[in-house]
Amino acid sequence: MTANMAATIPGQSARKYDLGFARWVYENIEGGDKLSMCMQCGVCSGSCPLGTEMDYGPRKLFMMVRAGMKDAVLKANTMYNCTSCYSCVVRCPRGVPVQYILQDLGRAAARMGYQEAKTTDNARFAKAFIWSTRKFGRTDERLFTFKYYLSFGLGEAIKKAMANMSIAIKLVKTKRMHLGMPHRIKGTKDLNAILAKAAEIEKREQGI
Ligand code: SF4
Ligand code: SF4
Repeated sequence: MTANMAATIPGQSARKYDLGFARWVYENIEGGDKLSMCMQCGVCSGSCPLGTEMDYGPRKLFMMVRAGMKDAVLKANTMYNCTSCYSCVVRCPRGVPVQYILQDLGRAAARMGYQEAKTTDNARFAKAFIWSTRKFGRTDERLFTFKYYLSFGLGEAIKKAMANMSIAIKLVKTKRMHLGMPHRIKGTKDLNAILAKAAEIEKREQGI
């Protein structure tokens, strides 16, 4: 059973600690059972090219898991800013599958309804990317980028599009981006059937 308590750190506001959270992570998160091997050396955070963009680097996040800081962990942007470069995984002296743990923590946060899982930049970008994949069977850079911008609201989308217009023009000039109708694959229906099946299998495996 999960135990909860409120602990106050002198000079800081009260925070909720879930003392069963580490156990839950060990048992339910992919690679979580290896988290007990972490010796807090910091090699993962020191190797991470995106560390400066994360609320907490992996080392600190793992310590927070152990401390039972469930909300702070599941609200962190760390999981969504990981680019899966695997530097941490190949360098960790204790064989902790850092990237796998981060990815699955992010998925768990989304399933639990944490808003951060939907509103971080990377979550918005991933949503637009999937939209384009479902619709065209491929990424249409222009449409999915604008779809991503639109997730911030129309005004912000126009501002962002204008700010990046010179890049778009260069991409068109160098034939890295096309004008005209979006390119589609032939079997978008089949692709969507495959994606639906994959989602069904994932839900079944997660017991949702
Ligand atoms: S590199 Fe491995 S052992 Fe070191 S802090 Fe990161 S996860 Fe822990
Ligand atoms: S896999 Fe993710 S957490 Fe690990 S070093 Fe790369 S970006 Fe950082």
